[in-house]
Amino acid sequence: MKLYTADKARITGGFWGEKQALLQKVTAKSIYDRFAETGRFNALICRKEEGMPQPHIFWDSDTAKWIEGTACLLMREKSPELEALCDGLIETIAANQMEDGYFNSYYQAIEIENRFTQYINHELYCLGHMIEAAVAYDQATGKKQLLEVCEKYIALVDRVFRVEHSAAFDTPGHEEIELALFKLYQHTGDEKYMTLMRYFVDTRGTSPRDITYEALGRSDYSQTHKPVREQDTVEGHCVRALYLYSAMADQAAHDQDEALANACRKLYRNCVDKRMYITGAVGSTYLGESFTVDYDLGNHEAYAETCASLALALFCRRMLQLDVKGEYMDTAELALYNGALSGMSLSGDAFFYENPLSYSPTRASIANRYTKARAHSAIGQRVKVFECSCCPPNVLRVYGAIQEFVFGEGEDDLYVHMMADAYAHTKYGILQQRTDYPRQGETTIYPPEGTYTLHIRVPAWAEEPVLCVNGLRHDFTIQDGYIHLTGEWDADATVELRFSMPVRFIYANPRVSADAGKVCVARGPVIYCLEGADNGDNLSDIRLRTDGSARVVTDGKFGLPIITLPGSRSVPGDYPLYAVSPVPRSAVDLIFIPFYAWANRGENEMDVWVRTET
Ligand SMILES: [Zn+2]
Repeated sequence: MKLYTADKARITGGFWGEKQALLQKVTAKSIYDRFAETGRFNALICRKEEGMPQPHIFWDSDTAKWIEGTACLLMREKSPELEALCDGLIETIAANQMEDGYFNSYYQAIEIENRFTQYINHELYCLGHMIEAAVAYDQATGKKQLLEVCEKYIALVDRVFRVEHSAAFDTPGHEEIELALFKLYQHTGDEKYMTLMRYFVDTRGTSPRDITYEALGRSDYSQTHKPVREQDTVEGHCVRALYLYSAMADQAAHDQDEALANACRKLYRNCVDKRMYITGAVGSTYLGESFTVDYDLGNHEAYAETCASLALALFCRRMLQLDVKGEYMDTAELALYNGALSGMSLSGDAFFYENPLSYSPTRASIANRYTKARAHSAIGQRVKVFECSCCPPNVLRVYGAIQEFVFGEGEDDLYVHMMADAYAHTKYGILQQRTDYPRQGETTIYPPEGTYTLHIRVPAWAEEPVLCVNGLRHDFTIQDGYIHLTGEWDADATVELRFSMPVRFIYANPRVSADAGKVCVARGPVIYCLEGADNGDNLSDIRLRTDGSARVVTDGKFGLPIITLPGSRSVPGDYPLYAVSPVPRSAVDLIFIPFYAWANRGENEMDVWVRTET
């Protein structure tokens, strides 16, 4: 099964259509302006001039991700203004590429003599993102200038790393280029990119020259602790790890490498069964932005970087190409609707780097007052740009290309993996889907004419699914999360899938101490939270009744309904610090909003996990 690249499918409306329109109207230009103000684009001239800030080692990746995301939006709708901005950046990059192919605005301006000597720096990571941008820009516009820059640079990297071993290290300190090389191989059909990708993947964990951050004292920080086929638990820096696992899954599927595929399956299992938050976020600590140990999933101290959730979705997408199982897309949706989407404001121009599952302004102020002594705390309001601003352009490029998750095709098969108002150009013709999911649990699919098996994913949480083919009820079974319909499809065939999406309560494994005695509220793929703006402060005092009836209320503010549920809280009063009897409680209606929508009404408390009444 192959998924379609961004240029072969389109989002045409619905929830994701609204988000892509926002990205195109607001987000792209807003990020561009912030990057211009902070000097990222001026830095592309690769020399230090009076008044210019010192470029950062990963600035080129910010620029590249912005170009990639904008390219994806240009596939959706032409914009001469955005295209001209991309052209300008690419022109500057091409004009400042070194004779031998090297390009890095930091090293060229500051310490060119040290290029390819510092494992911890991001040279190859920046090139990886430039490659992805180049492929997307070619797909969007047919312009190949950035592709030519990358191909020249890759030739240098191939010689220095794979042929001569003349760099001071052997694999990228921050993975990314591996999956980018695979993308370039798919785009060009040129085997040499696959060869270099395999070299980087297979060499990881085998070279004593790849010493990772000594300060952290852990070689698993950048997944160099074992050869990749022996890795079975997700370790180290989450974004690094998940980009590596994504590349491993690409390589395993392409080469039909069972040992590598099994490593991917084990890594996926460990991540999702033991180290992932209910929001599809990962990274339990800010120390090294890392995974920690099984079941260590504290809520307010969650690091949960936006990029890490996006990377998890990208890994799931590739796992689906290894094994067509609905659970991979269930997990991808969890990340895409929750842990990653909370990274962007409803206005589309402000961002979170961290997405904790609990927030208190008081706790944050204490953490910030005693930074060295107390636990780290995330910020409580999104900002327009970060010093390390990887997340905003990552939101732009992943949601700008979210159509890549929706459809797929095999030898005699078409797949609908994700419910979204969208279509794809398949080998049989246009495969279209009309839906208002996840507002409602129903979709209509218009399969193209032909003889093939149509596979339709049914989310694991979907209740009472009903299928109609050409308007008539149709019996079905669900295997590995999919309905399989084999037949001859007429040009006017329709397939309707409906299921109910009741409000669900989710309980954590008893080993997750942070969630003991608590529940989380969900509807469809969307995780909900309590916010101070609706429920007052001191949210930790609130108790939720799981035997009460939920009301799902349409609300224009957040894009999806809000949910009300009965609960209780302490009767207001002036109580002693300690007492021998409990404080009296009174019944209250609790208002839950989609987790991604929190912190859009000023700084206040937020909790995903809520104590239950009993
Ligand atoms: Zn990030």
